[in-house]
Amino acid sequence: MNQLSRFVRFWLMGCWALSACTLAQSADLLSPTPTRVLLSRNSLISTLERDFSAAPIPIPQPTSTLENTACPPTDGLPTVRHQIEAVIDYGDHSVAVEQQITFINRTDEALDTIRFDIEANRFANAFTLYTVTTPHFELMDVNGRQMTLELTEALLPGCTQDIGLEFQLVIPAVTSGISGYTGYFSYSNRQLNLGHWLPTIAVYRDGEWVTHDVTVIGEQTVSEVADWDVRLQVTNAPPNIVVAAPGDLLESADQVWRYAMTASRDFSVSMSPFFRQESAITEAGTKVEIYSFDNAIVNTPAGQVDGAVQALEATVQSLNHYSDLFGEYGAERFVVVQGDFPDGMEFSQLVFVSDAWFRTNPGTPESYLIIITVHEVSHQWWYARVGNDQALTPWLDEALATYSEYLFYEEFYPDLKDWWWGFRVQTFVQPGYSGNRVDSTVYEFATIREYINAVYLRGALMLDRLREALGTDVFIAWLRAYSDLGTERIVTSDDLWGLLSAEQLTQIAPIRAQFLSAS
Ligand SMILES: [Zn+2]
Repeated sequence: MNQLSRFVRFWLMGCWALSACTLAQSADLLSPTPTRVLLSRNSLISTLERDFSAAPIPIPQPTSTLENTACPPTDGLPTVRHQIEAVIDYGDHSVAVEQQITFINRTDEALDTIRFDIEANRFANAFTLYTVTTPHFELMDVNGRQMTLELTEALLPGCTQDIGLEFQLVIPAVTSGISGYTGYFSYSNRQLNLGHWLPTIAVYRDGEWVTHDVTVIGEQTVSEVADWDVRLQVTNAPPNIVVAAPGDLLESADQVWRYAMTASRDFSVSMSPFFRQESAITEAGTKVEIYSFDNAIVNTPAGQVDGAVQALEATVQSLNHYSDLFGEYGAERFVVVQGDFPDGMEFSQLVFVSDAWFRTNPGTPESYLIIITVHEVSHQWWYARVGNDQALTPWLDEALATYSEYLFYEEFYPDLKDWWWGFRVQTFVQPGYSGNRVDSTVYEFATIREYINAVYLRGALMLDRLREALGTDVFIAWLRAYSDLGTERIVTSDDLWGLLSAEQLTQIAPIRAQFLSAS
């Protein structure tokens, strides 16, 4: 553990627990090499920013050099590769992580910083950094979800930087109310969820790193795809603990599980000793697994039904249908998890569907259980495959995911098309709607309801109007082309509109003007 790491650890553990920190507290950890450190508090509490130019700390010694400008060829290698060793203390709700990141600079600029998204650090006291091991860095700024390494030798285009991180996660208990929506990173009395638990390299776009402020509305992550090799060792857990995780299972023995995933925006996992597991196979041979609890079995007027069986069937149907419409799903597995938090949440090859939708399941397709299940499945295209800026252009994934729900009902339950519009959309968005535009950012809303009404529901209305104007065949071909264009990329609304001809754009201009602020 180097001096900077000790300092960071001290600061994170000591200062973050206090309402204020004094320089004197940390000065004894500082040594006489001039540099500057800016460390600031999780944005949930007040921000601290200090200039330590008068009380410097040592620069970590390089473990290798990047002096050679002729870097080895990286053709065919992933831009980012994560190798993770995680020891999960199930009973203590904590995780000790060693993460090795290999990052190739595929921009055409020499990078003098590397920015990380540390989503776990949006939660108070959840993330404690112990060590950072990488060549040639001298300054580290940890500010809420952002961590920036400043490099003393720029990382040239085509060159590779290895970065090692050691950190501890303390998983928060799931909460009720609006903050419960982040229950994908929480524990309940029967489940531990690790979504967005690992630092990722931020997106570099237009000459700067893209990281957005946290808000309770929507999601704010922007993630490039990466390769993942994740080894989980579970301790302090019942012997019958069940791990729900995506990817190829490389190893499974003695409370150890190891998974590999390629070209994925995240790696998420859920575990519980109470999971029931059922599976089915799609037309393309993908194995769909659903992990649910006993309370997914409910009594309805038509008798007892198992929501897990219903959700499993809807998942297979929707994976088949969306593969036909938008391009093959491709992965060998897909995982659905009953989550002890509101609504649902998408990750690469794994989605959560809220316990609430299982508990209130009427036993028929006219249910949020089916709506949200297929919505989350569609995010395998509108998030996992086609990336977008979820904070600034949330409609690009959410409007498309919501309209994909309708495409599911249209295909499998055509008698319920009108029901879907009435139940899902018109209940909340009536004619004369005067709320925000479809292309609003997540920062423009006071409530989740207003956000869903504007971005999801009016987004679906807009897409339906566009379909009406363009014709179904052209509309679906357009979405398919967008899916192809955006595969393993981060795209913008210009990419979507740019796939239409000038004539088509003129044709739909009134619709864009009605629903969008930037048309
Ligand atoms: Zn969604």
